[in-house]
Amino acid sequence: MDHQTPTHIAILPSPGMGHLIPLVEFAKRLIHQHNFIVTLILPADGPISNAQKTFLDALPNGISHVLLPPVNFDDLPDDVRIETRISLTVTRSLPSLRDVLKCLLGSTRLAALVVDIFGTDAFDVAKEFDVSPYMFCPTTATALSFFLFLPRLHEMEPSEFRDLVEPFHIPGSVPIRDTAQDRMNDAYKWVLHHIRRYGMAEGILVNSFKDLEFGPLKALQEKEPGKQPVYPVGPLIQRDSRKDDHNGLECWKWLDNQPSESVLFISFGSGGTLSHNQLIELAFGLETSEQRFLWVVRSPNDVVSDATYCSVQSQDDPLAYLPKGFLDRIKGRGFLVPSWVPQVKILNHCSTGGFLTHCGWNSILESVVEGIPLIAWPLYAEQKMNAVMLSEDLKVALKPNANENGLIGRVEIANVVKSLMEGKEVKRLRSRMKDLKDAAAKVSSEDGSSTKALAEVARKWQSKICT
Ligand code: UDP
Repeated sequence: MDHQTPTHIAILPSPGMGHLIPLVEFAKRLIHQHNFIVTLILPADGPISNAQKTFLDALPNGISHVLLPPVNFDDLPDDVRIETRISLTVTRSLPSLRDVLKCLLGSTRLAALVVDIFGTDAFDVAKEFDVSPYMFCPTTATALSFFLFLPRLHEMEPSEFRDLVEPFHIPGSVPIRDTAQDRMNDAYKWVLHHIRRYGMAEGILVNSFKDLEFGPLKALQEKEPGKQPVYPVGPLIQRDSRKDDHNGLECWKWLDNQPSESVLFISFGSGGTLSHNQLIELAFGLETSEQRFLWVVRSPNDVVSDATYCSVQSQDDPLAYLPKGFLDRIKGRGFLVPSWVPQVKILNHCSTGGFLTHCGWNSILESVVEGIPLIAWPLYAEQKMNAVMLSEDLKVALKPNANENGLIGRVEIANVVKSLMEGKEVKRLRSRMKDLKDAAAKVSSEDGSSTKALAEVARKWQSKICT
């Protein structure tokens, strides 16, 4: 191999579109800005979803992908939590990952293996081959700071964190109250297992930027002996260049016929599901708000709120769960799509004026880049923390309150939707989002802080190969 051969980076996204999407954007920057080539190595526990397939089919030259053979989960109980499932998918894929790395090393100059927060078991394989292990954090710097603090908290606090009377303080962040950790569940043990291995990474890239999370990023970047560098490289969001599928084209036609900034977009990410009662309340709330809306509807699930995280699609027809006559009553004013739409394009459309989101970090970054104010409706993982950041700290979101049964009622929903779309507050929310949008553009510009942080990592990887 001569020195003209591009440096190669392997990326191992753990299952879930929320990990795959930002890692692919990261890969695109590596090939376009730093002349690397990238291989995505994808572990799975079954066939890939249509959404994933469409996404992977549209990868640009310079990024190839390898689908690892699906792992077997026949031994797992049905109620296993998503964190366990994702972690075990990676762990059980290590032998096939080893084969792929061996093959890449035989023919290319492989500098680094990048994994996300659930992929740390792959660090052992990277070390075996003298490939630099790096971690990409697809969520907030606040969550990363919390993760790094968790082993200490785990030792200090024998009780469940949700039972603590006082909120706890994470370096550089607002006090945190709401983390539903269940210490007895395997999912918690897996999370702790990964966090304890974060120290093996030579560096951590985080999909954020200082104007969004100044305090946590400052704390993470403070130099201490034995602490690896943290590089804020965000916002890395998908720039949608895919061919539109049927859903995309239909949404587009409908949006084109709506007045400017009049439509509320409603989506709970790739995995979010509501209970049936909550779905009904949301439907009635939207109906009585009298606002225009575009809603990505999934079939309800009364047991978990992340039911479609790995599969993305509902198993049956979600529209069948809506109140009787709903579709007729909202005709013209509301547009419903089952399961999946090209979200970035919708947020970018001039008719979209607000976004009711489950507060997944990719969705938040996409709204920031498009300057769209939010209704924060967190469901699982670190989303409650994100919702607090959006509504109390950055003040770019309204947050509806749940009633004593844990449901967000139809009247509350209608009020919040009206406030976001036509209330007094909307101007202030829009103007704060506009400031964040400008800041996001600045950090991503040629001499912006995120561009420079990525260049620093790229230099390290190049020099590893040249020495
Ligand atoms: N997404 C999309 N269409 C959909 C639902 C989701 O394109 O119908 C994309 C969305 O734009 C985002 C990602 O899937 O990039 C979801 O990531 P997020 O972190 O918001 O939530 P998660 O799915 O990981 O909970």
